[in-house]
Amino acid sequence: MTLENKVALVTGGAGGIGLATVRAFLRQGAKVVVADVDEVRAKAAAEEVADEGTPGSVASVGVDVSVFEQVEAAVAAAVDRFGRLDVMFNNAGIAGGKPLLEHDPAVDYAPMIRVDQDGVYYGILAAGRQFRAQGGGGVIINTSSIYGEQAAELAFTYSAAKAAVISFTRSAAYELAHQGTRVVAITPGRVATPIINQFSPELRALFASELLRNTMTQPEEVADVVAFLASDASNVINGTVVSCDDGYSVFKQRFD
Ligand code: NAD
Repeated sequence: MTLENKVALVTGGAGGIGLATVRAFLRQGAKVVVADVDEVRAKAAAEEVADEGTPGSVASVGVDVSVFEQVEAAVAAAVDRFGRLDVMFNNAGIAGGKPLLEHDPAVDYAPMIRVDQDGVYYGILAAGRQFRAQGGGGVIINTSSIYGEQAAELAFTYSAAKAAVISFTRSAAYELAHQGTRVVAITPGRVATPIINQFSPELRALFASELLRNTMTQPEEVADVVAFLASDASNVINGTVVSCDDGYSVFKQRFD
C-alpha cells in the first residue's frame, strides 16, 4: 500500500478524523492539501504536520464545503499547488440535534444539510470533473456515519444527511465507473474527536460501551482505513460502505 505521487484533498482536515488522515496520507508519501472552513487552523495543522518529517508534502486552503464555488476553488488550489488531484476525502461535517418536534427548520435542518449533505455532493462533482479532465481515475471517499444507516435519537437531520452520503456514493460510483473513478463511503462509529467530546463523560461512556472493544475509537484508526481506501491496494472496493464502527452495527443487532 502506497500513496506515493498521489495528490489528496482532505476536507475538514484541520482536526479529528480529517487531520489524522492527513498524517496517514503523508506517511504513505502523498501530497496533501488540508482544507477546512477554519482557515487558520488548517494552516496551523499543515505547518505542524510538515514539521513531523513524514515523506509527503502538505499545503492548506480555506473552504466552506457548503458553497460549491469554494469547493471548486479548493480543487483548483490543489491542482495549482501539486499539478493534479488523485484522492478527494469529503470528510467535513457538523453534528448535533434536538427532538424533532422542537425543530426550527431554518436552524435545525437547512444549515446541517448544507454542510453534511450538499458539501459531499459538491465534493463529488468538483473532484469527478477534475478526474475527467485528467483523463479519468481517482478515488472519492465520503464520510457518512453509523447514523446514516439507522434511526438515531436527537439526530434527525444528521442521520438524513449521512444517509444521503451513502446514496450519493452508490450512484456516483455507478456514474463515474466509465472514467475509472472509484467512490466509497465510510461509516465511523464513536470516534474521540471534538464532535463527540462535546457530550458529557457519562454519555461518552455509554457510547463506548456500544462498541465491541468497549473503548472510544481513535481518529488514527479510521484514518488508516481511509489511507487503504485511497490506495490502489483497494481497487476492488467500489460503490460501497466500509464500516469503521468497531462492531457497533453487530452490537445493535444482538437481540434481533
Ligand atoms: P471534527 O469536528 O474534529 O472535524 C470536523 C472538521 O470539519 C472541523 O475541522 C471543522 O472545522 C470542519 N468543518 C465544519 N464545517 C465545515 C465546512 N462548512 N466546510 C469545511 N470544513 C468544515 O469532527 P470529526 O469527528 O473528525 O468529524 C469528521 C467527519 O466524521 C464528520 O463528517 C462527522 O460527521 C463524521 N463522523 C464522526 C464521528 C465521530 O464519532 N467523531 C462518527 C461518525 C461520523
